[in-house]
Amino acid sequence: MEKVNLDWASIGFNYRKTPQRYVANYRNGKWENGYLTTDETVVLHESAGILQYCQEVFEGLKAYTTQDGHIVAFRPDLNAERMIDSAKRLEMPPYSKEMFLQAVVAVVKANAAWVPPYGTGASLYLRPYMFASGPVIGVKPSDEYQFRVFGTPVGPYFKGGAKPLTLCVSDFDRAAPKGTGNVKAGLNYAMSLYPYVLAHQNGFDENIFLDSATRTYVEETGGANILFVTKDNELVTPKSDSILPSITRRSMLYIAEHYLGLKVTQRPVKLTEVEEFAECGLCGTAAVISPVGKVVDHGKEICFPSGMEKMGPITQKLYDTLTGIQQGLIEAPKGWIKIID
Ligand SMILES: *Cc1c(COP(=O)(O)O)cnc(C)c1O
Repeated sequence: MEKVNLDWASIGFNYRKTPQRYVANYRNGKWENGYLTTDETVVLHESAGILQYCQEVFEGLKAYTTQDGHIVAFRPDLNAERMIDSAKRLEMPPYSKEMFLQAVVAVVKANAAWVPPYGTGASLYLRPYMFASGPVIGVKPSDEYQFRVFGTPVGPYFKGGAKPLTLCVSDFDRAAPKGTGNVKAGLNYAMSLYPYVLAHQNGFDENIFLDSATRTYVEETGGANILFVTKDNELVTPKSDSILPSITRRSMLYIAEHYLGLKVTQRPVKLTEVEEFAECGLCGTAAVISPVGKVVDHGKEICFPSGMEKMGPITQKLYDTLTGIQQGLIEAPKGWIKIID
């Protein structure tokens, strides 16, 4: 496969048009057969449900080249399942796991020249999403929907090493206890932009959101789950019904327990105990793990012993093991790597 001529290491995380994307429409009570198209634009009814009442859900996953030359995707079945859960919560017709995987495979194969070569650290980021395309004006679920998947090549997340981040404890809330924090919907991001911009203006990389009911427990950032390592090398991740179930976090918990032999615990984590942890990181598909060096709570600085120069040792082991599994250097648990080509 002849690859397109890109400087893979420096393409960054930006939208870059690839030749083919997948489209399927839901009309008359059923999903129609999907197809590939070169048209990256979407023409919508002026009163489409997505435009008026924000009925939309999405996913994010990566396809990349392994050492032995295969193009693979990491646990795409979990993205398919999560998108079904998200769709149900927003009263949208679920797009089946089989159809989801078929669409992902079709997009990757059709854009194989845009899947970065092995060893570049880059990947083809895939964005499946679904939105209400039919008109609504009274508040109700739409009658028509569109499912799409496009791919865009993205560079290695950390250029020149992973610099630890500084987080601030936000005064805003991300999710209500029985709200939509546990589903991957664009609406959760729309309302996080204001606190995100504010955090940046104040010199922070990301917000930590607390549980909105009591504002005492740590939830997550705007787009990544949080993990902590105790001084006894135990991996702790916050447990809450309003956290997005990150596939990276779930994979990390498995790796910590089964590959690294660490104790793992999912439990509510109080903000007041954060200062007792040895390491902290953010996890998600884009960065795998971004180390956190410091959390600032209204002027009070919590500095992790791992410091502001590099990842903590356990975070580094988790990162190396997961990326090793993804690249085919370490044997993967059964079903984690889907070979596409
Ligand atoms: C997508 C997302 C994550 C990360 O999930 P992954 O499956 O690991 O990519 C974490 N938090 C939020 C709010 C998200 O939308």
